[in-house]
Amino acid sequence: MDVEKIAEEIRAAIGKDKVVTDSFHSMTYSRDWSPRPSTETHLPSIVVRPRTTDDVSKAVSIANRHEIPVVTAAGLTGMGGGAVPIDGCIVIDSKGLDKVIEVDPENLTVTTQVGITVLKLNEELSKYDLWWPHDPESKPSSTVGAAISCDNDSTFGIKYGKIGDYLLNLVLVTGTGDIVRFGHRKALCSSTGYKLHWLMINAEGTLGVITECTLKIFPIPKERRIEAIIFPSVKNAIQGLIRVLQAGLCIESAHVNCKKRLGFYTHAYRMKHGKDPEIPEWAAALLFISFGGDEEVVDFSQKYCLKLLNEHGGQRVKEVDLTGSWWKSKHTLEFEPFNQKWPDSQRQKKFGAADLGIPIGRIEEAYEKYLYFTEKHQIDVLGMCVYMQRPNRIGPSISFAVFVNDMDPDEVKHFYAYVKDMSKMAVDLEGTMSTYIGDGDRLGGFNQYEHGKAIDYMLQIKKVFDPNNILNPGKKFESKWIKDE
Ligand SMILES: Cc1cc2nc3c(=O)[nH]c(=O)nc-3n(C[C@H](O)[C@H](O)[C@H](O)COP(=O)(O)OP(=O)(O)OC[C@H]3O[C@@H](n4cnc5c(N)ncnc54)[C@H](O)[C@@H]3O)c2cc1C
Repeated sequence: MDVEKIAEEIRAAIGKDKVVTDSFHSMTYSRDWSPRPSTETHLPSIVVRPRTTDDVSKAVSIANRHEIPVVTAAGLTGMGGGAVPIDGCIVIDSKGLDKVIEVDPENLTVTTQVGITVLKLNEELSKYDLWWPHDPESKPSSTVGAAISCDNDSTFGIKYGKIGDYLLNLVLVTGTGDIVRFGHRKALCSSTGYKLHWLMINAEGTLGVITECTLKIFPIPKERRIEAIIFPSVKNAIQGLIRVLQAGLCIESAHVNCKKRLGFYTHAYRMKHGKDPEIPEWAAALLFISFGGDEEVVDFSQKYCLKLLNEHGGQRVKEVDLTGSWWKSKHTLEFEPFNQKWPDSQRQKKFGAADLGIPIGRIEEAYEKYLYFTEKHQIDVLGMCVYMQRPNRIGPSISFAVFVNDMDPDEVKHFYAYVKDMSKMAVDLEGTMSTYIGDGDRLGGFNQYEHGKAIDYMLQIKKVFDPNNILNPGKKFESKWIKDE
């Protein structure tokens, strides 16, 4: 392949300043946040930085004609290797697609290019007193396009849900460079056609490059309160939440942490105050919860919720700093140096996770197996957090988190052996292998254990959108790390 000739062709089509080929710039795209040693970083031959859908279409058409792989990259905070280049590929850096096209306050929708970060989009919407409640911790860097492509979790999942609850339509550039809008204008409910916009949820850049989308948005709640409640078991916390929803209360966020993860917050408290918070020995689970709305409603919800949770063995945590450290790490991101879990832990070792969906009745069983598999593979436990991710129901997305030193190739191997055992266990417990990271280059191939013959149908669908298999080839369907021997 004559890289310079093809780069020139793309420059002629979309403009000189939007195409780079030097290794200095290419290096910055060589990896994402998935645990991988430096031997597993890869360089693209050409980086394209489009500003419009038309730019993307022209670049992909040229790539398709020459049958060169195309990898779409965004904030590179993905944890599954989805945006890691295939050697010699063209990387489409979507971050320049960052314009908000229309805010429609009357119909509560926003139409935007998708390379904008989640944080920036919300800064724009706040000018109208509106917000998009999708709220990952990575929001300063992660983009709207990746939120669709990875089906990410949000702090506010139990009230607002996931991307499928917001996505009205999107514009896709297919593997042939065709530009198609999928979805239903500004209607959230429709029974016409096929819901092909939803097919792009979790497609991880294998079916097309998403360039624009229209999302449902909401008025910013006037008042917010946060609470932390300890329980004698994870089961008690979940039963308490079921009761809260049964009572008709609408809560904004609900995260159930295991005892190990509770240790993070007590650690942060100890670092700040030089003493332990008052947490009794029996505490085996910690529920963080938030309420948003009008003051009277929040007031009532908070009191009634605490009463119901108390009936299920819950005890309110009095130390506001402990409760606050959750909110800072999840939502406001006001990290206090050396007092928060992220900066300290990330300096030494990387955060890695098996992100499983487990039926609620089997979470404690899964937790026991998590402790067993971390010991088996000699991995440091960070802790389990059960994030509720469906509106007004108990829809768990569970992070079974560990620490990985990815400067050590052996530790990376142990990590993926752990992910493999955990993923298999999730399917055996009638759950799913991934809830927010995606297949990327880790679960592909092995995910046949979950999907069986359905994988053949998925590959047929891929052919429709990408006949020459240039879009993120291998991702989702092959694994670098996990083999099914
Ligand atoms: C510190 C930290 C905290 C995190 N917190 C959360 C969290 O709270 N919740 C959560 O769910 N995840 C979280 N993540 C994971 C990560 O942020 C998400 O997976 C996010 O979607 C990645 O966004 P990105 O813009 O960095 O995408 P990238 O990593 O660049 O890409 C991710 C995937 O999306 C594809 N893609 C990106 N843009 C497009 C597009 N326009 N069209 C087609 N395909 C596209 C890429 O090809 C790739 O497969 C966290 C990660 C880190 C490092």
